[in-house]
Amino acid sequence: MFVFSGNSNPAPLPFQSPSQSCCNCGAARQVTMIGVNLKITRYLLLGGAETTMQLNLPFCARFQATANRMRQGLFSRLLITLMLFFSMLMWIVFSGVKMSLLNKHPVLAPFLLSLAIVQGYFALRRPGAVQTSVYQPVYLHNAERTMDGEIVRLSLRFTNKVYASKFREANKASCDEGLLTIEAV
Ligand SMILES: [Zn+2]
Repeated sequence: MFVFSGNSNPAPLPFQSPSQSCCNCGAARQVTMIGVNLKITRYLLLGGAETTMQLNLPFCARFQATANRMRQGLFSRLLITLMLFFSMLMWIVFSGVKMSLLNKHPVLAPFLLSLAIVQGYFALRRPGAVQTSVYQPVYLHNAERTMDGEIVRLSLRFTNKVYASKFREANKASCDEGLLTIEAV
């Protein structure tokens, strides 16, 4: 049985990572193993509890920086949008700017503009040709826990399909038992 307790932080995951090719772009040159932090947040009534697990994964020199670059969740996007929105409001109030659109919709117009800027920024952050992700190419999607908080099932997502199948092959026993789910996205 796969028993994971979150006592050590970050806790190393008991999986085998194929080390021949980069888990982001698939290149086989200058590949080094990097300890990647995989985080999952469990939302409770008042805030969230974060668990960090660690997995060694191979990265080429070019995309090492993506190893621990976390995805921005919906909540942080909203926070960035609101910060931008309030800066615009302050600017409108203190500069006394006069634009017909702003006079008609002094709150809605800057809010929609902030939303468009933030959404546009994240939409433009697409990976290049060989790169499969600008963020972590392997990340934690889901973790199933017992009442004590021990993790009994894990689901990992891979942006590199080839690496995902290599990883599945290397950890066949855990996958067959249903302890580990691997998804290529
Ligand atoms: Zn690479």
